[in-house]
Amino acid sequence: MEKRADALQRLRQAHEEIVLAALRSEGPMSRTQLTDRTGLSRTTLFAIISELMERGAVIESGVEDDGRPRGRGRPATRVSLNPDAGLLIGVDLGRRRVRVAVANIARQVIATAVDDSAPDADESEQADLAVALVHKICEDRGIGLGALEGIGIGLVGVMDAPDRRWRAAERLGAAFGTRVETDNNARLAALAEQTWGAARSAEDVVYVRWSVGVGGGFISGGRLLRGAHGASGELGHVSVDPAGPRCHCGGRGCLEERIGVPALLEALASQGIRLTGTDDLLEAAQARTPAVTTVVVAAARTLGTVLAGTVAQLDPARVVVGGDLAVLGGLVLDPIRSALSELALPGTRRTPDVVPADLGPNASAMGAIALMLKEQDPLPPGPDPADL
Ligand SMILES: [Zn+2]
Repeated sequence: MEKRADALQRLRQAHEEIVLAALRSEGPMSRTQLTDRTGLSRTTLFAIISELMERGAVIESGVEDDGRPRGRGRPATRVSLNPDAGLLIGVDLGRRRVRVAVANIARQVIATAVDDSAPDADESEQADLAVALVHKICEDRGIGLGALEGIGIGLVGVMDAPDRRWRAAERLGAAFGTRVETDNNARLAALAEQTWGAARSAEDVVYVRWSVGVGGGFISGGRLLRGAHGASGELGHVSVDPAGPRCHCGGRGCLEERIGVPALLEALASQGIRLTGTDDLLEAAQARTPAVTTVVVAAARTLGTVLAGTVAQLDPARVVVGGDLAVLGGLVLDPIRSALSELALPGTRRTPDVVPADLGPNASAMGAIALMLKEQDPLPPGPDPADL
């Protein structure tokens, strides 16, 4: 019995594909035209169309002349591919915000949304917030979710904790009944910049995100590097001072502890300059407040020194600087450029272009979409909990 059911299922899928292919290549058609075109029986074709309509893959597109003699019966309704079909959703579960992006069948990002999440929210609560955001954005924009193809999720931190990944993936997968993929959100931003942004068409890219935290992502030979333990790209946790203060990651003297926004605010506070947060810092730097530019330039120089090591090892064509600090343009990019050219391998003629990121704060959510468009090496499964 099972075999017969399988065979019927395969036959049905084959018929569906014939109908979809006809609509794809020839555009909207009436059911009669589709019967002629596909050679399927009327009964089979009608059953397939209603099934495809139920799933949101095709829609009826108004009443049109189908070229046949009129007079008897109803006018022909045409059937076409649902322009909302093949939707992909990208979700970025950040430290303070949840962002969502939606891409259509043509792989264009057609809508984005953002909401603040509670400071102590875990992945499951953030995933619930993302589900609500997706429903809201689709309702507001009239986007049907019937033909959702997949959801990509960006998460903070090293991807070596499968339970964290699964919690978020399970919630979103269950809410929408579709496949789910996860990765680190700074790495996803790198992938988005390579797909649509500042590193478009470059095969070898170093991306750094400089904000409260410092993260990154490397693309080598066109592929996003994940590493053996899901920790590739963690530029913020490269030690710049092995005798330095303890970092939350367990290391010492990490770059993030030296140049992340909190460290810059602290350095300025010790000089009597009290700024309250990222926006305040950026405003003072843009106004070229001397003490502030000095601290920012020194930090950019430190970042450039770390990047010089990465560049020597990976030989990228482009270094993309994203995150909040990137809006300062030349103030942060120039010290990075000088560090790269001063510290370039002897005999190296070319240093990579250093460019600001293009995609802004939605980059990670967009990267979660890019993750599903490209064939990527799988994420490592993470350590066995018994070993921890
Ligand atoms: Zn660290």
